[in-house]
Amino acid sequence: MINLVLHMPVWEIETEGAGRMQVAVLSGKGGTGKTTVSTNLAKIMGCRYVDCDVEEPNGFIFLKPKIEETREVYILVPSIDKEKCSDCKKCVDICQFNALVHTKQGVMLFEKLCHGCGACTLICQTKAIIEARRRIGKIDIGKHGDIECLSGTLNIGEPMAGPVISQLKNLIDDKTTIVDCSPGSSCNVVKAVQGADYAILVTEPTAFGLHDLKIAVELVKKINIPFSIIINRVTGDENLITRYCYEKNIPILGLIPYDKKIAIFYSEGKLLVEDETYKNIFKSIARTLMEAVQCS
Ligand code: SF4
Ligand code: SF4
Repeated sequence: MINLVLHMPVWEIETEGAGRMQVAVLSGKGGTGKTTVSTNLAKIMGCRYVDCDVEEPNGFIFLKPKIEETREVYILVPSIDKEKCSDCKKCVDICQFNALVHTKQGVMLFEKLCHGCGACTLICQTKAIIEARRRIGKIDIGKHGDIECLSGTLNIGEPMAGPVISQLKNLIDDKTTIVDCSPGSSCNVVKAVQGADYAILVTEPTAFGLHDLKIAVELVKKINIPFSIIINRVTGDENLITRYCYEKNIPILGLIPYDKKIAIFYSEGKLLVEDETYKNIFKSIARTLMEAVQCS
């Protein structure tokens, strides 16, 4: 049965009763309000916020945490000692990512293709390969009041977000956490969603929104994570997303209206829950979320 939160009463949230859960917030399409939902939910629930959208992290613009620590993220890449290399090419053959190429000058590494898997180091019998650290990004850790905030940032021009997301996820313990994933349905999203107890898919009532939502729905179904949907920029009772949800029997966790005030708050870097109307909307969403997680 579909659950339209705006038609439900508003409860007071007891954040201590939130339980311990990891909730991933994703969107098939960029610009649907995923970060708005993630940051405001973290604020209203008083739980940890983790920005895994490492190619474009912007949750800290709204939560404005005081940064207490910054950790560098490295991957280990091979460094080849030409003196010891016998030119056997075994490392080139084993590399699944085509990061190593054999040339007249010996084995060459294309650093940005290297996933740091270590297979080349293991196969090299002459010990010509040693591993060297390469910095690909950073993790900022801070506090917004009592709310723990973590955000990963991938270096500009760096193609591999995976290791930054993995290291961020490793920092999540059993406290209730909102994970703000990348938009789309790439392997970065899969990495961020994995291990979550529940997923929220944020969408908007447009043809593009529906198209990309369907892909995100397939993704969470494949990973086997219970989920529901928040529809942003809603103007009426029914739209193409609500019809899709009825048809597929997908629960709707909440509706966020199409409202100029949201654009103003966003442009000023303010949380929506600073406004009484939106505070009540997010309280209602948070309460329904906790119930949904407990029932799933
Ligand atoms: S496996 Fe070792 S010895 Fe063989 S080509 Fe690679 S670096 Fe050289
Ligand atoms: S560490 Fe893995 S990905 Fe990188 S060059 Fe070696 S085999 Fe290829």
